[in-house]
Amino acid sequence: MADAVVGRHAPTPSGHLHLGNALAFGAAWLSVRGQGGRLLLRIEDLDRGRSRPEIAESQRADLQWLGLSWDAETAPQSTREYPLDGLPVYLCDCSRKQRLGGACACRAQPAAEGTWRFRCPPGSVSFVDRVWGPQQYSPGSDPIVRRRNGEAAYPLAVVLDDARDGVTEVVRGADLLEATAVQVRLAEALGLPRPTYLHVPMLLGADGRKLSKSHGSTELRALRRAGWTADDVWATLLPLLGLHVDSLSAAVSAFDPARVPQRSFTMDAAGRVVAGG
Ligand SMILES: [Zn+2]
Repeated sequence: MADAVVGRHAPTPSGHLHLGNALAFGAAWLSVRGQGGRLLLRIEDLDRGRSRPEIAESQRADLQWLGLSWDAETAPQSTREYPLDGLPVYLCDCSRKQRLGGACACRAQPAAEGTWRFRCPPGSVSFVDRVWGPQQYSPGSDPIVRRRNGEAAYPLAVVLDDARDGVTEVVRGADLLEATAVQVRLAEALGLPRPTYLHVPMLLGADGRKLSKSHGSTELRALRRAGWTADDVWATLLPLLGLHVDSLSAAVSAFDPARVPQRSFTMDAAGRVVAGG
């Protein structure tokens, strides 16, 4: 028998959930529920300066309102340790400009202090995304895995957390497709299993930028105030996952990653889809 499927909702509590978040959490829920798996909630409050407990609470309420139940909540990132054990790393004291401009020589001659960077093996990384098919990306410059202030960087935290939580599938927005390459390399270096990846279409605002806090009118709490029900959210979002059914529950058996469109969608300020790009 195949191992049980384990997925996760992993909201970052620095901003309220908007339609783009709902699309990714909806796909995570549909995939896990359709396979009879287990869904975890993990609050990704790694960035303590920007994370707010009251926003995490509002995110839990939004997920419940949407009907996206979870089976257990795991430890939030702010309570976890992220050791560098077993990872080839070196210290770098260069500025961001030096790092990205190729002026950093710390890989050969490590600094005495600074950020810890992962000695990422050269070459491109191949993985298969369940929506986008075979993908190949180069991780680029060696990623930072621990900041100067001692805090773990997100790529290391998420790879360690998914392994510790037994997560077998990662579902998130297509803006993170390329970032997957570094996470695959980190998992390989640490000898951790590689989860499957499913990247859902990105939702853009009328300004062409990814939906975010700056598109406040597409936040779920704003839509709720404007009279939207959870069914209205799903009537808007399910077609963007290639689903033409009446309800979230009807979508469980119909969900098929191969039918999720490989493109982005543009939303207007009222939360309507105005274009597929
Ligand atoms: Zn350097």
